Amino acid sequence: MNMIAISLQSGSSGNCIYIEAGGVKLLIDAGITGVQAQERLAAHGRDIRSVDAVIISHDHGDHIRHAGVFQRKFGIPLYVTPATLAAAASRCKLGKLKDVRSFRSCDKIRIKDVLVHAISTPHDGVDGAAFVIEAGVKRIGVLTDLGHVFKDLVHIVSSLDAVFLESNYDPAMLAAGPYPAYLKQRIKGPKGHLSNHEAAELLGRAAKAKRLQWACLAHLSEENNNPDVAIRTHRQVADNDLTLYVADRYQASDVFTVS
Ligand SMILES: [Zn+2]
Ligand SMILES: [Zn+2]
Repeated sequence: MNMIAISLQSGSSGNCIYIEAGGVKLLIDAGITGVQAQERLAAHGRDIRSVDAVIISHDHGDHIRHAGVFQRKFGIPLYVTPATLAAAASRCKLGKLKDVRSFRSCDKIRIKDVLVHAISTPHDGVDGAAFVIEAGVKRIGVLTDLGHVFKDLVHIVSSLDAVFLESNYDPAMLAAGPYPAYLKQRIKGPKGHLSNHEAAELLGRAAKAKRLQWACLAHLSEENNNPDVAIRTHRQVADNDLTLYVADRYQASDVFTVS
């Protein structure tokens, strides 16, 4: 079964990734507006109203802010953990939700023929999860807001055919950049984000399993990173010829295929 994936947007301004396999259509996160998601999917010939589920990774606004609109306007069932929903509801205006389906951050979620494995993350959301989407023998990871390279992460990435992987910041740019000290500490701390170097080392090790077809670097910081720096670091550190893409902070990617 072939799978396709489109990053509709990735980064602190909003996250939303579309995955399709065997007739099942999923959105991971709802951090962009309903109109943006609808238009960007339509530009790739997809109808947002046919999406089977929007699955939320954690309670930070850049991942859940527009979940209520996705649910009400397009009738998409919302999959979210109870703790994430409670935390987000107290901060974002999610509005009235009709179709909410709970999962735990270590569950397997079945949506027709697709299995979504939730993986609990040490990021500083209240109950964060990353996801592996499995259709037949094919597996795509959507792994952002990871905290640090936790146990099992190399093993998980090694088991994937393709991955969206957080590559958030360049350490030198973060150190020299405008952020206040507490925020720099949060980002590079164990509950923050993965650096280019950490992501590159992880991908370098995982690619040795020879299963990965491509990796899309995701959730790049605007101030503390840029696509050229990220790609250069990955090429230097990982020392392989894995196909690399970069998810844009403001627009949709091409359609990526896993075959
Ligand atoms: Zn985020
Ligand atoms: Zn986050």
